[in-house]
Amino acid sequence: MIEYCSVGSGSSGNCHFIGYKGTNILVDAGLSGKTITNGLKEIEVDTSTLKGIFITHEHIDHIKGAGILSRKLDIPIYANVKTWMAMQEKLGKIDEKNMKVFENDKTYSLENIVVRPFSIEHDAADPVGYNFYSDNDEKISIATDMGCITENVKKHLFNSKLVVLESNYDKNMLMMGSYRYALKKRVMSDIGHLSNDEAAKFAVELIKQGTEELLLAHLSKENNFPELAYETTKGILAEHEIAVGEDVNLEILRRSSPSKIYRIK
Ligand SMILES: [Zn+2]
Ligand SMILES: [Zn+2]
Repeated sequence: MIEYCSVGSGSSGNCHFIGYKGTNILVDAGLSGKTITNGLKEIEVDTSTLKGIFITHEHIDHIKGAGILSRKLDIPIYANVKTWMAMQEKLGKIDEKNMKVFENDKTYSLENIVVRPFSIEHDAADPVGYNFYSDNDEKISIATDMGCITENVKKHLFNSKLVVLESNYDKNMLMMGSYRYALKKRVMSDIGHLSNDEAAKFAVELIKQGTEELLLAHLSKENNFPELAYETTKGILAEHEIAVGEDVNLEILRRSSPSKIYRIK
């Protein structure tokens, strides 16, 4: 059973826990080392069991605690070359043996964990989402910080039992909000973030392609709130005769508290 738990998710910090057959890892460590350690304690995971940290991209809300945890626990950080080049300075000194490099769109094993980083569109050096596979080829997927849904994203997210999908902003809140115009344009662009509407429309496709658990993630603090993201997706799913609670379990990941542990066979 693949275990998934969000330690925290939002525009101010992201960290996901994945466990499979005793191998535990993190995807991103964008909260402080202390917050991550305490969050894992809440779900009864000891940080000493972690085997590595997989990074999606170099923005600070994804790497803030990565350097500290790597040094403290003596565990590797996994990222592609361009992400390494962009984040290395911000991480502080990392032991050379803990600097691991992968290539996008290839599949790797780390003990019992089978992981595939795949390319996504975002204004970072070389951002990725992740698939994690069980022995019987079920998968769970994490995809946040995406300006648009590419064919490569569809290919990797379809047939995932559980998907963590960005639902970053409400378009009206963003337009009316306090961000300066250039930043609004950046957020809405194809290398920015997914809006509630965009996430909801893609959710229809995901559910038709086998997704049973849909967790909306990386909500903006300024331009969104949990009930709005939830209701937007629920409404668009209903237009396509997909009933939340029956056809899919829909939940919102919280910014500063761990989610429950989801288990996928
Ligand atoms: Zn980002
Ligand atoms: Zn982010």
